[in-house]
Amino acid sequence: MARENTVKDFLDNREKYSNSDFYSELKSENRDLEFMREIVEGEENDGKLKNIPFVVKDAICVEDVVTSAGSKVLEGYRPVFDATVIERLRNAGAQFSGKTHMDEFGFGTFSTNCAFATPKNPHDSERVVGGSSGGAGAVVAAVDYPMISIGESTGGSITNPAAYNGVVGVTPTYGRVSRHGLIDYANSLDKIGVLAKSVYGTAKGLEVIAGEDDNDHTTSYRPVPSYSELEEVDNLKIGVPRQMLELDGIQPGVKENFERSIELLEDNGAEVEYFDQPLFSAETVLPAYYILAMAEASTNLAKFSGMRYGNEADPEDFDDFNQYFSHVRSEAFGEEAKRRILLGTYIRKAGYRDKYYVKAAKVRTKLIEAFENAFENYDVLMCPSMPNIAPKIEDAEALRPEEVYAMDSLTVGPNLAGIPQLSVPNGLSDGMPTGLQILAPHFGEKKMFDTGHMFEKLKAEHW
Ligand code: GLN
Repeated sequence: MARENTVKDFLDNREKYSNSDFYSELKSENRDLEFMREIVEGEENDGKLKNIPFVVKDAICVEDVVTSAGSKVLEGYRPVFDATVIERLRNAGAQFSGKTHMDEFGFGTFSTNCAFATPKNPHDSERVVGGSSGGAGAVVAAVDYPMISIGESTGGSITNPAAYNGVVGVTPTYGRVSRHGLIDYANSLDKIGVLAKSVYGTAKGLEVIAGEDDNDHTTSYRPVPSYSELEEVDNLKIGVPRQMLELDGIQPGVKENFERSIELLEDNGAEVEYFDQPLFSAETVLPAYYILAMAEASTNLAKFSGMRYGNEADPEDFDDFNQYFSHVRSEAFGEEAKRRILLGTYIRKAGYRDKYYVKAAKVRTKLIEAFENAFENYDVLMCPSMPNIAPKIEDAEALRPEEVYAMDSLTVGPNLAGIPQLSVPNGLSDGMPTGLQILAPHFGEKKMFDTGHMFEKLKAEHW
């Protein structure tokens, strides 16, 4: 059955799913839905997420379930194993309920680069869901019960759909969550995280999936704190980098919502300071990010040639393997993937390496230092999650690539630095959700969740 069902079905059938019995409904009537796998009952588990349904971005391997990373090149690929995060969720009693649409390999900001469908925003079906974990954000907004949605961010793919769909999204510190079983976009940037309806939901989900993994030696051995034991925050010091607020193209409604929230926090005891850090500007972070991300992406995509995974052609139709590979890759990769293969390969060529790649890597090191310096003065930093509300699908599709990339200016900096990010719903503008982004030092997730929870409570009391 067509994969459109993953998100579209949720959206078309919101009524049907909007009851707490969702899980049993899934088991009975909708067994034929592609997003559904055989549901295993009675597994040994510690019960932390007992019977909570979870859905997964299509880039994460689930045993025997089609996992295509939003790309035709991987159409029909069924992994023979579960990614570490899937294993951990199952062990905690959560129930796998489906895969969600995404931009091909994570290349995009609106989920308009999906090979299989363009998911629609549950708040307004003419608008995008964000990207690249767009389906993962939309599903959480579309259902009326607790759900854990697993996303992945390379340059903003969790914060962005969280903001556009009005849900909470956590992008953890790089290395906090195992990437084993993730179809990589850019290995030095990829982070698996959680989208849910509340800060508590994201904290609970992260607690389950985080921690050292022998299958991924970039995971940290630090113990995982009990994130979901949310605590009061006293004497919070918030820094607001002006470069992440006064940026070109920020919509007035987004800025107003942000400033209103900052005042609310200030009125309730937080100390707020606006400060300057030129390295956080769009002019610095965007080129550094896109150079590093494309260089890594182009190497990662080399393995998709119609030989080992997914899509294939009949070798008899070709004179040699070069022809065969070229055919499969030309047919199956989408336009944005091809653009990134070309640019990424160019950036890595001898002669250009120092000019682009090495320079971008140096900017990244400076950026990490700049964030570390900022966190000597502040507990958390805050900025809007996205500069705009979710655009109309047709408007998003009409943008030039560099205009699309510019939308990422608030998310790529923190992602380059590998620091944790939490996007919390921050009120509507023109009837669409906006987000507040909370940034914390490496492995500072606990305080970030506590701050997000405090903000959620203040909003509920005062708005
Ligand atoms: N929009 C950014 C990109 O296309 C980030 C996407 C992501 O985090 N996967 O690279």
